[in-house]
Amino acid sequence: MKWRGSRQSSNVEDRRGQGAQYSSAAAAPLALRLLPALVKTKVGRIVLVVGVVVVFGGKMLGVDVLPLLLGGGGVSNSASGGTELSAEQKEQAQFVSVVLADTEDTWHEIFAQLGKTYKEPTLVLFSGQVKSACGMASAAVGPFYCPGDQQLYIDLSFFHDLKTRYSAPGDFAQAYVIAHEVGHHVQTLLGISAEVHAAKRGKSEAASNALSVRQELQADCFAGLWGHAANVDRNILDPGDLEEALTAATAIGDDRLQKGAGREVVPDSFTHGSSAQRVRWFRAGFDSGDISVCDTFGAKNL
Ligand SMILES: [Zn+2]
Repeated sequence: MKWRGSRQSSNVEDRRGQGAQYSSAAAAPLALRLLPALVKTKVGRIVLVVGVVVVFGGKMLGVDVLPLLLGGGGVSNSASGGTELSAEQKEQAQFVSVVLADTEDTWHEIFAQLGKTYKEPTLVLFSGQVKSACGMASAAVGPFYCPGDQQLYIDLSFFHDLKTRYSAPGDFAQAYVIAHEVGHHVQTLLGISAEVHAAKRGKSEAASNALSVRQELQADCFAGLWGHAANVDRNILDPGDLEEALTAATAIGDDRLQKGAGREVVPDSFTHGSSAQRVRWFRAGFDSGDISVCDTFGAKNL
């Protein structure tokens, strides 16, 4: 993919090693906001003087009191103060930002054609564990989209897994994963996710899983739509890029994952679709660039 030097999205929130930034980034604005209120009253002024004495007294004794006063930020500060991002990690974030920006361009255009307005999602980069409106999640769940806060969550170690564990290397394989999660955001904006959620109520597990599969395959088709725009409109694909995405789609098909985990392949338990289905729907979007072909819910055969 020709991504270097392209526009980066401003909607990426990097929470990798966030503790290091907490007290400097959050504490200063808070203290400044409190200042006018404190100066106004006599008690406030006394509090202020005592505060200043405590903070500077602490500093003289070698204790940084400010983070402690402002809610314990100092603990995470000292715990993760050493997490400087490597050059590779910084580059990964740039790559993710460029892909996200490209999906923004694509979906703004498609939504405009539909007479709608696209609302850009935030993409959160995390390492290890993350708190979202959908609860706590660990890196083990893989990249996900949370409809509750309309944010994408990616632990970049998944890209390493994609390359090594799933044998799906390449930047476009990673881009496909991001575009798939963006696809879920699009489903949320279009009201499709809410419809699926409602339709699942009272259904058997197998029937509910079948709906999940259609929803996931549509997200693959939406990822393909982005790939089409990136390829045809912006010409940023290299030879072999499409194959990278197809390899990734194959690698994370439910049948392949179940087999890989040493489990029996049980189609009723599929929630994302088989490898062949994932490839097929990604291609449907990629080849046509037409959102009307992504009606996985109306399709007789997946
Ligand atoms: Zn998905």
